[in-house]
Amino acid sequence: MNYTCYACDLDNTLTYFTRGTDALIDIVATYGVPRDVAVRVMNAVVDSDVGFSHKTFVAALCKLHNQINAPQLERDVCGWLEHDGLARYPDVDQFLISIEARGLPWAIITAGNEEWQVKKIEAVNLPTDRVFVVSPMVGKADAIKKLLKRFGSPIVFVDDRPAELDRVRDVHEPDVVDTYLIERPESPHNMNLSRYEHKKIKSLLELPTEVTEMREIKQGIR
Ligand SMILES: [Mg+2]
Repeated sequence: MNYTCYACDLDNTLTYFTRGTDALIDIVATYGVPRDVAVRVMNAVVDSDVGFSHKTFVAALCKLHNQINAPQLERDVCGWLEHDGLARYPDVDQFLISIEARGLPWAIITAGNEEWQVKKIEAVNLPTDRVFVVSPMVGKADAIKKLLKRFGSPIVFVDDRPAELDRVRDVHEPDVVDTYLIERPESPHNMNLSRYEHKKIKSLLELPTEVTEMREIKQGIR
């Protein structure tokens, strides 16, 4: 199969929190917020319309604990992310080198708060010029449509969340978008079931990357 483009989810596909979110809760606890409260606020913000970011999380905490030094806590959260809170999975570098060596384009399609998702991508030194940040309500099918328009089909879409793969499959047929479920130990979606059959992989290096014909690769991704 000659794929025209590789579309990858970010969280628990390309990156993972090295100690989960425990280290984040540890930071918040030093500001006098009980851990169970911090976890509850974090989960509520993740599921909200604005999505999780250092700013939306700290703002929500400040509503309950107005003595918090908000600018300092925001800096601490960003420092955690940039220092060692987030990492690339070990297979990412080899995978990207391999597809770039073949001249194959790739993109990141991630759902969440745009400012935070871009901060995460920067924190692990991945390029930010090929990123589509979509609303969790909307899903990823429209972003994939843009890639199809630019590069043609078939493209690969890889995600650790069965529901995201299903929503893409609702719109795009298997011969247009090949959907891969990546099983990462850190994924919170490991027990979730899917409505469609998706190919299952444990590493990005299992994705087929062969090129059997010369193709002109268009530059630019958006
Ligand atoms: Mg994910």
